[in-house]
Amino acid sequence: MDYDVIIVGAGPGGIFAAWEFAHAEKPLKVAVLELGKPLDQRRCPIDGKKIKSCVGCKTCSIMSGFGGAGAFSDGKYNITNQFGGTLYEHVGKQQAIELMKYVDEINVTHGGEGTKLYSTANSEIKRMCLTNGLHLLDAQVRHLGTDKNYVVLENLYAELKEKVDFRFETAVTAIEKREGGGYRVFFEGGSLSCRACIISVGRSGSKWMESVCSSLNIPTKSNRVDIGLRVELPAEIFSHLTDQLYESKIVYRTKTYEDMVRTFCMNPHGVVVNENTNGIVTVNGHSYEDPAKHTANTNFALLVSKHFSLPFKDSNGYGESIARLSNMLGGGVIVQRFGDLVRGRRSTEQRIAESFVTPTLAATPGDLSLVIPKRILDGIIEMIYALDKIAPGTANDDTLLYGVEVKFYNMEVEIDERLETCCPGLFVIGDCSGVTHSLSHASASGVFAARCLMGEL
Ligand SMILES: Cc1cc2nc3c(=O)[nH]c(=O)nc-3n(C[C@H](O)[C@H](O)[C@H](O)COP(=O)(O)OP(=O)(O)OC[C@H]3O[C@@H](n4cnc5c(N)ncnc54)[C@H](O)[C@@H]3O)c2cc1C
Repeated sequence: MDYDVIIVGAGPGGIFAAWEFAHAEKPLKVAVLELGKPLDQRRCPIDGKKIKSCVGCKTCSIMSGFGGAGAFSDGKYNITNQFGGTLYEHVGKQQAIELMKYVDEINVTHGGEGTKLYSTANSEIKRMCLTNGLHLLDAQVRHLGTDKNYVVLENLYAELKEKVDFRFETAVTAIEKREGGGYRVFFEGGSLSCRACIISVGRSGSKWMESVCSSLNIPTKSNRVDIGLRVELPAEIFSHLTDQLYESKIVYRTKTYEDMVRTFCMNPHGVVVNENTNGIVTVNGHSYEDPAKHTANTNFALLVSKHFSLPFKDSNGYGESIARLSNMLGGGVIVQRFGDLVRGRRSTEQRIAESFVTPTLAATPGDLSLVIPKRILDGIIEMIYALDKIAPGTANDDTLLYGVEVKFYNMEVEIDERLETCCPGLFVIGDCSGVTHSLSHASASGVFAARCLMGEL
């Protein structure tokens, strides 16, 4: 065997699995194969001046490379079982929290020193939400910030590369069972054998993950897709929430359809950014820990989950089609003033220029009602009015809405309580398993899978 364990993907799931192996009492021979570049070579060509929109690089530096999709993220590590994934269904609630705390400790001691751990256990804000039909979820949130998150990744890599073999720009194409046990992992120009394999290819690897499941007969079930918009408004409007909680996860049940709309990824004083998933440009956001990089705005997403029943199975395809529609109309992300949306007219360059909120992303002014399905858009508008009661100003005409924000979820791979598939020694972790959807849950799943394997190997 070339290796005891091969990890596919160097996102948080892969990194923390590698971390656990690297710190084992009895060291194992471990390799990480990653299709993207090392952290210091990851560069998105969009500079906002010469290159304003996505040019479709062969591998997207935002989504791929050491650090995975989270490398340039806001670095918000949520310690909770209430959102971010359902790891607890496999490992138990207490263990899931312990694993997330373990990851948090490693982050804090590797560059995240001095960062704040927020808690939503604030009864006054909770009460204010409840009296307005809104529900605040409980969580602890470590905000590393994009800058410190990068430093943590640099430090983890410096330590890991001494003990684990990293192969970058190595896209794994197939995984086959070896006769007599173990696996052969194929990539362009070669292959390697291993006793056990951990797949952690994230959302960007979801299509490839599907092909692995079908070739190895690993059962899967179709999952959900979240569709919505990113809201951007003056930071003062949400400051009474963000100063105390940093991120507030608020859920609202719409009166019209009884759909759930929720806030997601709140970035006080942050920026709105493009996200490219397999060539489809959607919107996201992040913020920096460094006050010098703060903007005057806060942004967050409002999302509605869409679950499908048979015979339709392609929930991601549905989300992609909506995102494609916005890309077709706007050449990328569309931005619209809330006032224009409710008056049934498109936003124009002039209306955006005259707005009191200055957009942090150069998006195309347009009409989001041409893109977002009515039921979803109605729910989002209802929630904006509900949020206006706890954060007056949310429903101002100048509040900016960017679309579309889509959270693609991988189909759920059938894995047991060890995160192992029906193929012995083949583990599927992180977002590509469909079980996690966040930095903390993905990282925790990596630690857990490595611990399970260490006992065995
Ligand atoms: C802009 C942005 C901001 C975000 N902000 C937050 C946040 O603040 N908090 C939070 O909790 N979550 C956030 N997320 C989500 C978070 O980044 C993910 O949940 C997390 O990164 C999942 O980790 P992972 O290891 O499962 O997958 P990923 O991080 O996606 O890593 C998978 C890796 O596998 C590689 N790969 C894919 N296919 C192959 C292949 N065939 N061969 C080899 N390698 C392959 C990819 O290149 C990638 O590097 C954000 C995401 C984005 C895009």
